[in-house]
Amino acid sequence: MPKVAIIGAGLAGSLLAIYLAKRGMKVDVYEARGDMRNEKVSAGRSINLALSDRGIAALREVGMDEYMLSEAVPMYGRMIHSVAGETTLLPYSGREGEYINSVSRAGLNIALINAAEKYEGVAFDFSERCIAFDCDRGEATLSSGRKVTPSTTIATDGAGSAVRDAMLRGGVDRFDFSQKWLEHGYKELHIPPGPNGEFLLEKNALHIWPRHKFMMIALPNFDGSFTCTLFLAHRSTTDLDEPAFDRLTDNKAVIEFFDREFTDAVPLMPTLLEDFFTNPTGNLGTVKCFPWNARGNALLLGDSAHAVVPFYGQGMNCAFEDVRVLDQLIENHGTEWETIYKRFGKLRKVNTDAIADMAEENFYEMRDATADPVFVRKRELETKLEQTYPDYFSKYSMVTFREDLPYSVAKAKGNAQDQFLMNVCAEVGSVKELDISRIHEEVKKIG
Ligand SMILES: Cc1cc2nc3c(=O)[nH]c(=O)nc-3n(C[C@H](O)[C@H](O)[C@H](O)COP(=O)(O)OP(=O)(O)OC[C@H]3O[C@@H](n4cnc5c(N)ncnc54)[C@H](O)[C@@H]3O)c2cc1C
Repeated sequence: MPKVAIIGAGLAGSLLAIYLAKRGMKVDVYEARGDMRNEKVSAGRSINLALSDRGIAALREVGMDEYMLSEAVPMYGRMIHSVAGETTLLPYSGREGEYINSVSRAGLNIALINAAEKYEGVAFDFSERCIAFDCDRGEATLSSGRKVTPSTTIATDGAGSAVRDAMLRGGVDRFDFSQKWLEHGYKELHIPPGPNGEFLLEKNALHIWPRHKFMMIALPNFDGSFTCTLFLAHRSTTDLDEPAFDRLTDNKAVIEFFDREFTDAVPLMPTLLEDFFTNPTGNLGTVKCFPWNARGNALLLGDSAHAVVPFYGQGMNCAFEDVRVLDQLIENHGTEWETIYKRFGKLRKVNTDAIADMAEENFYEMRDATADPVFVRKRELETKLEQTYPDYFSKYSMVTFREDLPYSVAKAKGNAQDQFLMNVCAEVGSVKELDISRIHEEVKKIG
């Protein structure tokens, strides 16, 4: 029975442990942090996440989809909040049954660890960090001083991967690596439930306060609360009116900023100041690298191979899709690790590059375009097209609801569609003026 080491018991590593155990493999998982089941989860690293079809498809294969969805809050669209506090709902799709789900990161991670541990061959070692990796010998050095040499190692140790670092520092010849930081950071804030546990904003929506240079979003939690995330530039520019984290340094500045920009949210945030000054400001970036394997000795998977910015809500979904694709390759090639890893890289790289690009582009869409009337008309038109024609899928729908379509196809087709529809909507004042059937015919020609 081959013994596989997984470095990192985050979302991808824990799911992967289940998949490998189902194939009868022995799996040792080494996780730098303590066992999250016994520890209070610290704020600051996305308390909730949007789970969509690609992620659900991977959970379904190990029988975890229904369990997770029973604790999720469906979000049917984006609720846009204007500066004056007016709201508009932009549905994610014109079809029923196409929505995204707000799930607890910790809840999902714990459920996956619990499910993996039920297999006899799976062992988790918490508080055991991988501090070095020998790519030639396939040997991991752990923080306790132990050295382990399994049949192969799969590194799911996230955006700051130690195994990737070893590949970069000479472990793999001609290893390509790039890391691009966004000038914006993020901070999590809190809207508690009402006195009777009720949701104080529309429950079934992802709320957005788009303000061009920055934005705040809020996702519902199962307990009636919302987790807000403020995305804002770290540093101010010379423009004195431009807000940035480095200008929000005292209570007065924070209150003034929130009162001006997020008027309707402020009365719902009783711990705003405490949250603002206690919770960390996180960084956001895109990591690209290649190849993802050190021969048959190690593979990077999930954020360690391709961290993306969170604006398409796809990082975890993409990592889960990685696991599914890898499992299919194991089905076809057994334990010929080098063959599997090379094919995995070939199949996935083009798609993870595509979602990385779309995620960056979507930041600008969320903070700018959702407040642009042409874009709002385009979303309305797309919803109409989806309601009327079952064969029409917007770019968002292709990425989010079509696990059968690779991200690269969704990107190419979606961008061409977007360009055409934005042009159409720029020329009219209302979607009612448009001949939907003619537009559908034109869109079909795009391919
Ligand atoms: C603000 C924010 C919002 C997001 N929202 C969404 C969303 O809505 N939908 C979505 O799909 N994705 C979202 N993402 C992305 C998602 O969080 C990641 O893509 C996902 O967590 C990747 O899973 P992973 O297992 O590869 O990495 P991680 O979840 O980062 O897990 C890595 C694990 O490895 C451990 N580790 C690290 N180094 C070592 C080491 N040297 N040795 C041993 N263990 C180690 C870590 O402690 C951790 O447990 C969001 C991300 C952010 C930052």
